[in-house]
Amino acid sequence: PARDFAPERQAIIDLPAIFHNVRCLRSMVAPAKFMAVVKADAYGHGMLPVARTALAAGADWLGTAHVSEALQLRGAGLDGPVLAWLHTPSTDFGAAIAQGIDLGCSGWELEHIVAAARELERPARIHLKIDTGLGRNGSSMADWDDLVSRAIAFQDDGLLRVVGVFSHLAVADEPHRPETDQQLECFRQAVAIAEDAGADLQLRHIANTPATLSRPDSHFDMVRVGLGIYGLSPFDDQTSAALGLRPAMTLQTRVALCKDVPAGQGVSYGLHYVADAPTTLGLIPLGYADGVPRVATGGPVRVNGTTYPVVGRIAMDQMVIDFGPRGRDGFADAEVPGSALGAAAVLFGNGDDGGPLVEQWAEAAGTINYEVVTRISQRVPRTYI
Ligand code: PLP
Repeated sequence: PARDFAPERQAIIDLPAIFHNVRCLRSMVAPAKFMAVVKADAYGHGMLPVARTALAAGADWLGTAHVSEALQLRGAGLDGPVLAWLHTPSTDFGAAIAQGIDLGCSGWELEHIVAAARELERPARIHLKIDTGLGRNGSSMADWDDLVSRAIAFQDDGLLRVVGVFSHLAVADEPHRPETDQQLECFRQAVAIAEDAGADLQLRHIANTPATLSRPDSHFDMVRVGLGIYGLSPFDDQTSAALGLRPAMTLQTRVALCKDVPAGQGVSYGLHYVADAPTTLGLIPLGYADGVPRVATGGPVRVNGTTYPVVGRIAMDQMVIDFGPRGRDGFADAEVPGSALGAAAVLFGNGDDGGPLVEQWAEAAGTINYEVVTRISQRVPRTYI
């Protein structure tokens, strides 16, 4: 029903779906704590509304990549536990400490964090990050003992508290791969080293959405869930519905023009699509400036209960669908030229009515569902239901 009050272009964000997803995932991991990952504007869903909904549904923590994102949460009055984990030497660690934001620390940050804590005369709360195999941030195992002992020394000086140890998984979305076992084993060793050195760890955490769903042995004290709270599946072979999750974003607009064209009509830049019979084209006012991938020709658009493919190149502001050759069997009267003008056009949604899913756009674009929703640009207004 929400789809009918659409203005011309919008991403409808179903907050009750996010509430449901958090509830569902949280109950799977209890008594472990639940961090809702709301970085990147909550994967395009809007950080503040999502954060509030996740907390209302029982999330214990919020997670962001950047301190700037965590500060936005604080600025909006969200004063519960927040962790930010991706820093540069220009990061405002002082602001983070002053605002009670926990900081991930891979190594080099330690002295910066301590300098800021000393100046503020307030101890920082840190989560030491170990690279158990992903090869991105996090201390390597070779440097881990040294990092832990430096951190514990600063803790003894009252400048910080080591409250957590964490890591990130590389292949948890492919449950048959052996590297996850290796990463978990490495993580256990890193935790043991920190505890032996005197860290009083409250939070050991490594699980993302796929590990949360498929590896109960990865839950430890907390899971960090992004994709799942948005109702999307991290697995190629399992749908959201099969996982009991509800996709929260619907991207929709209205048909901007319907036009009869003769056989031989080329469509969009490069004229890569040429109608092989007289047909009716529909203009969809969304393009790559709105975050729809330019390469996603063939992506599905649902109009009046039927799904049509995008034909020709997706342009900056618009794309074209082919309603099908006129006179073709089964071509409904409702879809004849003109009648679809102004009709709701759904690129993806929750799939309830058999409509297209974000995964189909991901496939058309050669990418993953994470990227499709996250890149829907700010030019597309968000409507919260
Ligand atoms: N933890 C960290 C460190 C991350 O960078 C991310 C997102 O990439 C997550 C957790 C959440 O991952 P997912 O969206 O697969 O749950």
